[in-house]
Amino acid sequence: MKVIVLGAGVIGVTSAWYLTQAGHQVTVIDRQPGAGLETSFANGGQISVSHAEPWANPAAPLKVARWLFREDAPLLFRFRADLQQWLWGLAFLRECLPARARRNTVQLVRLGLYSRDELARLRRATGIQNDQLECGILHFFTEPDAYAHAGETAALMRAHGCDLELKRAEEVIAIEPALRSIAGSLLGATYTPSDQSGDAYRFTERLAALAAERGCEFRYNTAIEALQRAGESISGVLVRDDSGGSRVLGADAYVVALASYSPALLRPLGIRLQVYPAKGYSVTVPITDESRAPRVSLIDESLKIVVSRLGARLRIAGTAEFAGHDLSINRTRCEAILRRAQTLFPGAFDASQAQFWTGLRPATPGNVPLIGRTRIPNLYLNTGHGTLGWTLACGSGRALSDIISGRAPEVQFDFLRG
Ligand SMILES: Cc1cc2nc3c(=O)[nH]c(=O)nc-3n(C[C@H](O)[C@H](O)[C@H](O)COP(=O)(O)OP(=O)(O)OC[C@H]3O[C@@H](n4cnc5c(N)ncnc54)[C@H](O)[C@@H]3O)c2cc1C
Repeated sequence: MKVIVLGAGVIGVTSAWYLTQAGHQVTVIDRQPGAGLETSFANGGQISVSHAEPWANPAAPLKVARWLFREDAPLLFRFRADLQQWLWGLAFLRECLPARARRNTVQLVRLGLYSRDELARLRRATGIQNDQLECGILHFFTEPDAYAHAGETAALMRAHGCDLELKRAEEVIAIEPALRSIAGSLLGATYTPSDQSGDAYRFTERLAALAAERGCEFRYNTAIEALQRAGESISGVLVRDDSGGSRVLGADAYVVALASYSPALLRPLGIRLQVYPAKGYSVTVPITDESRAPRVSLIDESLKIVVSRLGARLRIAGTAEFAGHDLSINRTRCEAILRRAQTLFPGAFDASQAQFWTGLRPATPGNVPLIGRTRIPNLYLNTGHGTLGWTLACGSGRALSDIISGRAPEVQFDFLRG
């Protein structure tokens, strides 16, 4: 079958890889000059099944209210005259209900475990390297309220197969000695030995090259303008290349993997998606003292940031701002992240060479991605991966390829129209 994949981020490229492996003739279209250059470019690098608890949980409404209007808040809603934002916000509140938050966590753990296994299989098959470290993830706590809640989430995830262990402060420092600098305020952590980290951009770029070697076509510098419909089906995608020329490309099936730009493409077809951009930041610094920099990937609950060592670099990423598709860099937010990294790992890196970046997480209200069929028979979705797109990429791509190929996916997950 001929398949067009719209978007060459980590989600589009993994979809294209598995579809090519399944014997389909695949074309990937993206406006950028290469793969992985938007949200997948400089994220936190974590393959974190253990980070499956969504932002929308029972504790969130109070926290978000407390943080309103604070420029350096970990989660910041900037209210705008934007109906989509308000509708998304209401849906987010609904997903904070205990039963829905639990259900979303379970969905994400299942897809996360499957995805991590698929990534391991892909690594064995291809030898792909992307500064990966398989040292586990420590999610550490310095605030009593959040720590008190950690055991409950850990139990839920353990019950669904995630090997999350509770650790006391001294055990945490034994696992990651670089955290000795905060020994005085550290309360404890959850540790997931099977979680890992690695550079999502390098992975995406290299997987795209491997897919191209196997016959997948990549059309870069090409803007997607509209999907055209003939009767019940999609008949083509209208694109414009960088010389300004427009044309229609046709296929048997179409996959939308355009992250937070997916809703705008689908709206004219009457398909409404609740995927809203949650802007996040990352700071990448060169490591100058190996002994002071962590090897275990970290989640710092107090500031909602993650830390990953990527070769000779340290990547610190996080915080969320709901402010539309704006990508401008807010110095206050970047400096809050950098300051926290300096407190955690004094003398480990050269802050004067910090590279600041911002990306738009394609967030659904409950953080559960939209994968599967639409009501248009030859149109499929793989979008809305929010905070976990790198973690969930291989599993989502493999499962969608199975659905398009007429096979049942191997993972239990609420696929669209499954
Ligand atoms: C600060 C931050 C930290 C994060 N940390 C982690 C982490 O540690 N672990 C984790 O699992 N996830 C993390 N994430 C989330 C993860 O990065 C995303 O979920 C993931 O990158 C989404 O991938 P995607 O392919 O859907 O989107 P993208 O990578 O944005 O790909 C979408 C593609 O569509 C293309 N496109 C869009 N519109 C058009 C158009 N009209 N025409 C042509 N092309 C178009 C874009 O150019 C882009 O290449 C983080 C995100 C952020 C922002």
